[in-house]
Amino acid sequence: MGKTTFSPSSLPCDRLPSPPLELTYRNMTSAIEAATRIPRDSHPISRTNISDSALKVMSRLRSQGYQGYLVGGAVRDLMLGNQPKDFDVATDATPEQVHELFRNSRIIGRRFKIVHVRFGREIIEVTTFRGHHDDVEPEEKPKETQRQARQAASGMLLRDNVYGSLEDDAIRRDFSVNSLYYCSSDFSVFDYAQGVRDLEQRQIRIIGDPEKRYREDPVRMLRAIRFAAKLDFDIEADTAEPIADLAYMLEAVPAARLFDEMLKLFMAGYALRTFTLLREYQLLDHLFPATASALDETPYALALIEAAMRSTDERIAADKSVTPAFILAALLWPPTIQLMRQIEDTGAAPLAALQEAAQTIVSEQIHHIAIPRRFTMPMKEIWEFQLRLLKRRGKQVNSMVAHRRFRAAYDFLLLREASGEDLDGLGKFWTELQEKLPPAPPGGEADDSSEEEAPRRRRRRRRRPRKQ
Ligand code: ATP
Ligand code: MG
Repeated sequence: MGKTTFSPSSLPCDRLPSPPLELTYRNMTSAIEAATRIPRDSHPISRTNISDSALKVMSRLRSQGYQGYLVGGAVRDLMLGNQPKDFDVATDATPEQVHELFRNSRIIGRRFKIVHVRFGREIIEVTTFRGHHDDVEPEEKPKETQRQARQAASGMLLRDNVYGSLEDDAIRRDFSVNSLYYCSSDFSVFDYAQGVRDLEQRQIRIIGDPEKRYREDPVRMLRAIRFAAKLDFDIEADTAEPIADLAYMLEAVPAARLFDEMLKLFMAGYALRTFTLLREYQLLDHLFPATASALDETPYALALIEAAMRSTDERIAADKSVTPAFILAALLWPPTIQLMRQIEDTGAAPLAALQEAAQTIVSEQIHHIAIPRRFTMPMKEIWEFQLRLLKRRGKQVNSMVAHRRFRAAYDFLLLREASGEDLDGLGKFWTELQEKLPPAPPGGEADDSSEEEAPRRRRRRRRRPRKQ
């Protein structure tokens, strides 16, 4: 790829001089040796692949005298010839200034203030350039900076709303391949962290000192895994090195944030590869500790989880609906079944033992990852259904097939068998039974996996007038 190197400028990109430019190195940090400008004819990004909404946001920002660049995953994916799933914009306008420019926008976040600009169903995320405040000791920082930024003793950033220049922003980003900026007015790409080299070498490289960057935000360890799995990239050696030692830091990350990250890890179409890397880097022990320890002790556990991940990936590739409840059912089944057996040994009936085990495992798990009830409920139903599916006779058998949870439970049963569990032909029994039954009426499809995704509608109870 032909590159021209230039001195970074804070001018909006449409006012930057056009190439060829002088080769200028800036002595900013060791992470950034040179800022490189890649002109339109030397990179593959075409405006036609960029969302109109993102283009509108950038052009509006520029028309008001601000800078506006496409950044992050969108530039990375476009450089690789992939279609991005969303578009992020970076600007020098503050969140409040951005909000003022777009009526259809709102400021969200506390740890990171960002602005969501909404166009129908599409949301363009606009972030203000971050400054790097963390090289200064807290007491040396001006009061205002201290209020905008907070860092725990562990090095973790609790708040990060210090704004800076484009160059500052570039080194505050996580990985070099996520730190490319596309200017939609002169069509060039700006590379401050050798992101293009790393794209070419197909590697995930963290910007700056790896240990320090993971301490600031331990979720970056998960992000390294996620991008390596998604892009099928290697994790560069220095970036990979501290992960296993610092994995314990995930315990300090709020459980609600880890739930969001978990969805990104497993529901993006690369769950199997992601799961393998999470184990390899010992991150699974801090995300799903009960699962991690049951994996070595429970027969077929690994094969079952891998089969669930593979099936989720295949469904996503085929544009079919998926639900986190199913993946969670597979992930937490090994420790649950292990505990259930122990409870059964004390004389409890199977269903009671399963329910107690499920309750114990779930309440322990949600300390790590805050799984909402709308996913734990169907997950428990899939498990309980495994006991009901053992019954091959009786009146209930036919009606069970029509149950809303049957489809997921049956799929789960097949996965258990496929992973080596001997269930005495149970899967075949239920397959043949369904073939014998008359087809379900249209619209009566038992697959309700999308139901969990839909926001729950609150049922309003009508207030009765109080009796006097
Ligand atoms: P995806 O394709 O999943 O959207 P993405 O790279 O766009 O990938 P986002 O979570 O949308 O990821 O974040 C947008 C950009 O913000 C990233 O590319 C990165 O530059 C920056 N970023 C996000 N999270 C962090 C973080 N924890 N630390 C530093 N930079 C981050
Ligand atoms: Mg993104």
